Amino acid sequence: MRRKIVAGNWKMNGSKDLVSSLVGQVRSELAPLDNGVEVVIIPPALYVSDVVALAGSQIAVGVQNVACWDSGAYTGEIAAGMARDAGCSYTLVGHSERRQLFGETDSQVAAKVDRALASGLGAVICVGETLEEREAGKAEEVVSAQVRKAVADVGAEQWQQVVVAYEPVWAIGTGKTATTEDAQAMHASIRAVLMSLGAPADEVSLLYGGSVKADNAAALFAQPDIDGGLIGGASLSAKDFVSICRALP
Ligand code: PEP
Repeated sequence: MRRKIVAGNWKMNGSKDLVSSLVGQVRSELAPLDNGVEVVIIPPALYVSDVVALAGSQIAVGVQNVACWDSGAYTGEIAAGMARDAGCSYTLVGHSERRQLFGETDSQVAAKVDRALASGLGAVICVGETLEEREAGKAEEVVSAQVRKAVADVGAEQWQQVVVAYEPVWAIGTGKTATTEDAQAMHASIRAVLMSLGAPADEVSLLYGGSVKADNAAALFAQPDIDGGLIGGASLSAKDFVSICRALP
């Protein structure tokens, strides 16, 4: 059985005030929820400890990025082991903003996945094509290559820590969402790639991300290969985020 996951990526937004108001509200509204969803809040790293302190057992916490290394002279970086030590159970890896704005390469993404898994974190590996690549008919080729490179070093016993988030770059923060058919087709294609690599593909959770909102989540989550969502903007509102968590079947 694969896990159903809704993860909220706050990006570089938030404050101590938002942590205390939003986490408390999400926690109390989720308490009666029994659809088996695993809820993850991924705040800026400075607020991880505050979220951990308020999250309770129903909410897991993640970081938005980890280093390729375990420790040393890498000013400004955060090691996966440190995130684990601070109470995180997940990290995002290879978010398109990291790839596009900070030049993160496929080999860095693979190194980060490796460090995250070795430290006991779940790695939410973000993949997705640009609009140009989709219009050129290359979306599946691009995403498949990203997946293959990111999981190249995953060991047989580590697959349960791997989550893949398909996030078409043109849908992130733009209000445009992939159609349910296109999203399902890409998720099925990612699962086929994982299968071809010898992974237990039916057990790997695949999330959709890109302008998921309270009013489009249910249709996306109803697709057979979509196991939840990676939510940006809408995760900054407790009401919207909880509605999205409730939209999982
Ligand atoms: C994201 O940041 O991963 C994301 C999907 O953002 P948004 O939901 O705002 O498009």
